[in-house]
Amino acid sequence: LEDRVRALEASTPRKYPQVKYLNYKNRKRILITGGAGFVGSHLVDTLMVQGHEVIVADNFFTGRKRNVEHWLGHENFELIHHDIVNPLFIEVDEIYHLASPASPPHYMYNPVKTIKTNTMGTINMLGLAKRVMAKVLIASTSEVYGDPTVHPQPETYWGHVNPIGPRACYDEGKRVSETLSYAYAKQENVKVRVARIFNTYGPRMHMNDGRVVSNFILQALRNETITVYGNGKQTRSFQYVSDLVDGLISLMASNYSQPVNLGNPVEHTIEEFAWIIKKLVGGKSEVKQTDAVEDDPQRRKPDITRAKTILNWEPKVPLQMGISRTISYFRRELERSDRFQKD
Ligand code: NAD
Ligand code: UDP
Ligand code: UDP
Repeated sequence: LEDRVRALEASTPRKYPQVKYLNYKNRKRILITGGAGFVGSHLVDTLMVQGHEVIVADNFFTGRKRNVEHWLGHENFELIHHDIVNPLFIEVDEIYHLASPASPPHYMYNPVKTIKTNTMGTINMLGLAKRVMAKVLIASTSEVYGDPTVHPQPETYWGHVNPIGPRACYDEGKRVSETLSYAYAKQENVKVRVARIFNTYGPRMHMNDGRVVSNFILQALRNETITVYGNGKQTRSFQYVSDLVDGLISLMASNYSQPVNLGNPVEHTIEEFAWIIKKLVGGKSEVKQTDAVEDDPQRRKPDITRAKTILNWEPKVPLQMGISRTISYFRRELERSDRFQKD
């Protein structure tokens, strides 16, 4: 058997992306909860390439092993199948707490679990940070502003959230997550960072994510009708995932503990967005209005003055470039799933 394993290894040597060498003083042990998901897996890539040790804890609800498979077996990388609602005892220097379903259909699928993940899961991560004196960054969201009455939204705005509507499990879950962070900071001196993330897109978004970017691109690639919910006058501002990853890493490295908006302030109506995607994909799709969804925030655009001033951060990737890269990704994914169906 040993000979066979050796022969197999010799015939298929593992090739990893190049990582920098960091000496032990600069190398950190970093936990990323939800690291097999869309944003988490891009964060894994950047931190691994920088030379850190990265541990991913994920229950694979919406994440996939495939998003991080290029690191499996690497000496600096570890993947733990773990549900963050349960305690986790490990030794780390930093925690990026991203575990939570993020798209409306996913977080509404099991609202109780969404609340548990964002409350009990966050308590566990803050408890872990307290025990090992790690810094912890919480992935919060623009949804804490709800359907905003202030535009654009600065961090000082308290929000306008329906506490019992269909989005409440996520919005209120994240609001409690923030409250918990500041309670642990005050009471236990835990070093917390809170990123309020606005709509983010890019490769490795889930195909059946149900969010607008994946829906519109897939509909356009399949020549199906592009479905605009409601009159399409509601707005969103979309940031490309690499910009977000840079922002998260800068925020973690900063000394700033108050919430920071991370998003791209270029705002579009959803109707405009449908036409932008149709044009970039080509094809014969029609753009059609369908029923509006309940409690849909009508306007959303980040005020990023704080991130610019404190982190010296602003998004760099223009919408057209980011969307084109995302279209190429979905095109490849569709070819892959077609191949699987033929096999
Ligand atoms: P995603 O669904 O791709 O990733 C979430 C990951 O968390 C998945 O890998 C999932 O399997 C994992 N997870 C869920 N519940 C878990 C649990 N109980 N235990 C362990 N792992 C669990 O979503 P994403 O877009 O990568 O979002 C990442 C984070 O960023 C989330 O916290 C989300 O709320 C936040 N966020 C994202 C956006 C966005 O536009 N993508 C916007 C605002 C906030
Ligand atoms: N916790 C954890 N890992 C640790 C330390 C704590 O998962 O390394 C969990 C622990 O199980 C607890 C939660 O974090 O449920 C909060 O911890 P804290 O110390 O604040 O609370 P306590 O244990 O005193 O209830
Ligand atoms: N939306 C849409 N068609 C879709 C999916 C979403 O018109 O197929 C709209 C949705 O009603 C919302 C916006 O696009 O106004 C963004 O929705 P998404 O679910 O991506 O994220 P949200 O910002 O609402 O969390």
